[in-house]
Amino acid sequence: MSTALEAYAAVAGQDVIDQLGQLASRYRGMKVVHVNSTRVGGGVAEILHKLVPLSRQLGVDAHWEVITGEPTFFQCTKAIHNALQGNPVMLPSQWLEAYEENNRRNAERLRPLLEEADLVFIHDPQPAPLLGLCPNRRGKWVWRCHIDASHPYRPVWHYLRRHVSGYDASVFSLASFAQALPHPEYLIPPSIDPLSEKNIDLPADEVDAVRQRFDLDSDRPLVTQVSRFDRFKDPVGVINAYRLAKRFVPGLQLVLAGSGADDDPEGEAVLAEVQAAAGDDEDIHVLLLPPDAHRVINAIQRASDLVIQKSTREGFGLTVTEAMWKGRPVIGGDTGGIRLQVIDFHTGFLVSTPEGAALRMRYLLNQPRLIHDMGAKARTFVLENFLLTRQLREYLTLGLGVLTGMGERIELG
Ligand code: UDP
Repeated sequence: MSTALEAYAAVAGQDVIDQLGQLASRYRGMKVVHVNSTRVGGGVAEILHKLVPLSRQLGVDAHWEVITGEPTFFQCTKAIHNALQGNPVMLPSQWLEAYEENNRRNAERLRPLLEEADLVFIHDPQPAPLLGLCPNRRGKWVWRCHIDASHPYRPVWHYLRRHVSGYDASVFSLASFAQALPHPEYLIPPSIDPLSEKNIDLPADEVDAVRQRFDLDSDRPLVTQVSRFDRFKDPVGVINAYRLAKRFVPGLQLVLAGSGADDDPEGEAVLAEVQAAAGDDEDIHVLLLPPDAHRVINAIQRASDLVIQKSTREGFGLTVTEAMWKGRPVIGGDTGGIRLQVIDFHTGFLVSTPEGAALRMRYLLNQPRLIHDMGAKARTFVLENFLLTRQLREYLTLGLGVLTGMGERIELG
């Protein structure tokens, strides 16, 4: 077994890797291709960076291709992305021309590979028209939508729907994100990579060093929220909850960690509101971190007794998964994918108000044993449901389902 597979087996269990191997063996002689529009930045690229090599380690002939494009193309696809999330955006006809023309250009380059592939995963709207540009395809094609398309701006969705209806299947992250399409639809929630810098185990002295760097007192309780400074993440609500809880939990400290907001005017405004709400309270630490501060975030999550993610609207909420993986119970907003992860009274608490969050903070912080037990359950829950290995298992299973057809039995070797 390769070193990478051994490393995953050490974390997820040998049985999990064996099962992946069994599924992968059904792909012998087949070519699987993933296509997206960027090799760096964003969750899709991050997951493909791990998923494709892991597939190859298992013996799957997996490839990852990235479409290229000029600025107008990306302006258009960004607008489509925003429209899928509900913004009423207009797409000028020259943007749509650039979108289609760009896909045509990429199809010229990718057609030989895509038409001979057995299974093709097209990620998000950017490369969606490729299907229509590969008329001699011999494999099955799956459209993988990572976006919350629950309330799309209809004119744009109708346009995109023309490009995605012809796929053999589509995949959404959560049931609530999906739109009706004329083919089988699957749900595959996101996952975290337990071997990434954000999630690997850290030596205690590294966690201590981060505590010291940010003036966090290890003898006093600490609650943390890691989030972009975005109103839907409700950072001011977190400060209000902290203030309410502090009356009953003397010495309580709060960290609100997020990355800089240079390219996001609203982020800057939210950060200013957060700083104003924090005032001169020395126990509130508003940390602006560089976007690649993965180990620091890892350490901060580990330095915390509890993690809070008090979103009022949320996609999946990877910060919740990350915290639970570190054995921390999570007090999470009762919304979106947080509901899939925070099981009330087991892996954390779901809340809807600062008062509710404060009550749960106080309840947990006064019972270290309970924090420990719920944290252990939280970690097991992530181990069983939200690791990269589960996501790969579901991709491989879905692929077999699509390749084999619904009526037949799938035999694994
Ligand atoms: N994150 C980060 N630095 C920050 C804030 C967030 O690296 O300052 C990471 C966080 O650890 C998580 C991701 O960004 O991996 C945020 O994903 P999530 O699904 O929680 O929220 P989103 O930002 O996608 O709404």
